[in-house]
Parts: sequence; C-alpha cells; structure tokens
Amino acid sequence: MVRGYKQIEKGVLSTMITVSSFSAAKARRATTVYSIALSHPKNVGVRGMVQCLMPTWGMVKGFKRGSISEAEYTARYGKLIVARWSEVKRWLDSLNGNEYLCCWCITGFCHRYLVAKLIRKYRSDLEVKLS
Ligand SMILES: [Zn+2]
Repeated sequence: MVRGYKQIEKGVLSTMITVSSFSAAKARRATTVYSIALSHPKNVGVRGMVQCLMPTWGMVKGFKRGSISEAEYTARYGKLIVARWSEVKRWLDSLNGNEYLCCWCITGFCHRYLVAKLIRKYRSDLEVKLS
C-alpha cells in the first residue's frame, strides 16, 4: 500500500503520526503541528485545526470538573465522531504520516487516546505514537 506514505528525505519514508501535547511538539520543534483541541497556544506554529476531532466545551469542562467520567467522555466522543463521520473519514484518508496532532494535555486521559485509537483502526498503514 502506497497511499499515505510521504517521502520526506531521499529514501526515508515517514509513517509516524504523533498524538501529543503542544508543549512536546514545541520542544521537538515539530513543523507539522495540527490542533485537535478547542484552542491552541500562540507560540506554537499550528498548521491547521482539525475541527472534526475537537470535543465540545461541555465535555472538556465536565471531565475536568469530574462530573463526566472517562467512560462517559469516551461514549460522547464516539457519538461526535459518528455524527461527523464524513469529515472524519476524509481527514483520516488525508493523513500523510508525519503529523503531530496536539492537545494542551501533557499527561492523563483525554481525546488524544481516542484519536490515537481511531487512527490505529482506520489507518493501520501508519504508526501512531501517543504521548
Ligand atoms: Zn487533551
């Protein structure tokens, strides 16, 4: 399968998607950063915002406050993905394999985990590094 592979240097193919935090991407001087969060820091060069992967403010606030459990958050996020599926599918198909998909969270559960799972399921030709 050739689709999705991008030649970044002579003879070197990148097939690694990194799902991480803005601060980690900045530390690594990543140049292919895309935001999957509802906002992004101004000091990180963000190439684009992946709207179809963003949670809602209600989910984010509820989870931080503790009124929404990890299981509930996961269920609600799954529903969002289903509702946005045509966009999500188009985005999945467009992945080149050198993107950094970033959120503010540095550790702990958030939709980073669910996005990583989604890519592993639908783009098994790519490697996904979750941090
Ligand atoms: Zn997050």
